[in-house]
Amino acid sequence: MPLYPYRCRRCGNLTELLWSGFEPPEQVPCDACESESTYRVIGVNAYHRSDAQKTARLDPKYDRLVDTTAKSAAGTSEDRLLRRMKPFE
Ligand SMILES: [Zn+2]
Repeated sequence: MPLYPYRCRRCGNLTELLWSGFEPPEQVPCDACESESTYRVIGVNAYHRSDAQKTARLDPKYDRLVDTTAKSAAGTSEDRLLRRMKPFE
């Protein structure tokens, strides 16, 4: 269930609302002063996540970085596999 933060215009308190519906309400009563004058805060984490995805798609350097990491990771696991294997007797 998504958690929606609301900032109070009167006292600045952050009220969090668990909302399972399609569209969360524009305002919820403030936890601290019970003022109805609140506004929904857009999630900071959601913004950063979408921004990172944009960068990953556009920057070719990122792909090369992933390739290198994948190759070295594969090499590492191969080494581990060989070390674990015992020769036939
Ligand atoms: Zn308040």
